[in-house]
Amino acid sequence: MSSTAISDSPAPWLRDNCPCGECRDPRTGQKLLRITDLPDRPAVGSARELPGDDGPVWEVVWEVVWEPDGHRSRYPAAWLAAHCPGGPHGPRGDGRTEADKELWAAGDLTGRLPGASWEAYTGDRAVRIRALESVRRLGFVLLRDVPCRDRMVLDVAETFGFVRRTNYGELFEVRVEADPNNLAFTGAPIDPHTDNPYRDPVPTVQLLHCLRNEAAGGDSGLVDGFHAAALLRREAPEAFDVLTRVPVEFAFTDARTELRAQRPLIDVDPLGRIREIRYNNRSLGTLHGSARVLEEFYAAYRLFGELLLRPGLRLDFRLAPGDCLVFDNTRLLHARTAFAEVGGRHLQGAYADLDGLGSTLAVLRREGAAA
Ligand SMILES: [Zn+2]
Repeated sequence: MSSTAISDSPAPWLRDNCPCGECRDPRTGQKLLRITDLPDRPAVGSARELPGDDGPVWEVVWEVVWEPDGHRSRYPAAWLAAHCPGGPHGPRGDGRTEADKELWAAGDLTGRLPGASWEAYTGDRAVRIRALESVRRLGFVLLRDVPCRDRMVLDVAETFGFVRRTNYGELFEVRVEADPNNLAFTGAPIDPHTDNPYRDPVPTVQLLHCLRNEAAGGDSGLVDGFHAAALLRREAPEAFDVLTRVPVEFAFTDARTELRAQRPLIDVDPLGRIREIRYNNRSLGTLHGSARVLEEFYAAYRLFGELLLRPGLRLDFRLAPGDCLVFDNTRLLHARTAFAEVGGRHLQGAYADLDGLGSTLAVLRREGAAA
């Protein structure tokens, strides 16, 4: 390796990434220096390659322009090769955007529905890694033969993260209620939607555990919202742009709760990549804006709505008792057909978050690599 990795690296970036014990706490790896502690314009005085215990190391001595520099930094050559601006990697995704996903229409998953039995999922690290990877890559996994026990959905959530308690409680019952505060708790059909867009932050993972499903109807559907948004961008780029820019108010109100959040229907990351979808006609509030913006929004909203109902996008299936669907609520829209209110249909649902799932997955992989 030549010294170009050093000369290609902006000095403030390199100086801030010094791994030494003065710059980073050796116990936690956390940075000790404030940006304001560093020289205003750090400059590399000299750089040379040295042998190290774990491969070659680049030693940089920082020029003394004024105090306090003259600092000596040692960067493993492998670290520089992986991270320096001239290296192979551009800006990395955080795992949440379309860049790190496999977008799908229903036909793409024929015969390869991501799933695992509860026994294999809990007993085999490789199966658990694959299942959690499916949630990250495809947006969901279907766990089968999960014991049909009351509150079991919370145990499932705790295998990869932390239950997000909300005004609905630790879990919510999806069955016909005598005095429902949400259409979900009736036998009405529910169009594809994401849950709780009126919450800030929105729950990023949802679980639905089927305890009984004897009613006529009540089949489930999933739509890949990232795929639909990417289609919209291709077919009607201006409409896509409108939906990423116009803040939309979502609201939920009942006797004890009043929740509001304002976000666009399609959220993109700073590089313009699709990152989150919020879509729920039941909780869309009253928009405020200029007449022109409202006209543009409604035209775009309608196009996106038509796209989400396009035949072929929606994956239909029927949850059987013991099935637990775990899905990315910032990407997939879920739906169900109408069902007879007298029949027995009972799901228990809970929310959790993708950061916990990602952490569990990373640690499982780390342990797998070490084993
Ligand atoms: Zn240092």
